[in-house]
Amino acid sequence: MIVTMTHPAAPLSGYQPIGGALCLDFANTVDWHDSDHPVELLNCAESLSIWARLVGTDDGGVDDADLRCATELRDAVWEVLRAVVEEAPIPPNAVAVLNRNLELAPEHRSLTVVDSGVAWSDRTVRGADALLARIARSAADLLTDPDRLKRVRMCAAEGCGWLFVDDSRGARRRWCSMQSCGNRAKARAHYRRKQI
Ligand SMILES: [Zn+2]
Repeated sequence: MIVTMTHPAAPLSGYQPIGGALCLDFANTVDWHDSDHPVELLNCAESLSIWARLVGTDDGGVDDADLRCATELRDAVWEVLRAVVEEAPIPPNAVAVLNRNLELAPEHRSLTVVDSGVAWSDRTVRGADALLARIARSAADLLTDPDRLKRVRMCAAEGCGWLFVDDSRGARRRWCSMQSCGNRAKARAHYRRKQI
């Protein structure tokens, strides 16, 4: 169960798109994902819009129903990639969620007549669906690219759970972000002290 702790006025506070792939940046919208106290960063539809803009894409306008679909996709991406990182069996249910989202934007597009002639049209796909399909496509591309997939890592900070493609020289990157995980490690120590 996801526990929402971020303040609605400051959604995605401290979030950085460090994943190296759209699907991983999306998977990383939960802090402490691999712990028993995950923190949801997408706590309202507006936060999904903000995330889309942060990673340089368009949300097309989202509502609460879109947000539920988005977090379901997000959790599926994370579960599949975690299984890859841990060399565990890929959960079929999560793959089914990826497939449902891939189908939101069929590969074939249609042509439309515009002032300057003929152009591609994908206006039949709702903006939010196009966003989810793009994320699912990013996951599918990563999962079927062995060279990139073998460089996917989970942050070494206990419980962090953020995923990234390790493009560092020598493939020795261990942390999602030194600054981020350093700061969050402090916050976690603070959280623990408050629990005692
Ligand atoms: Zn981390």
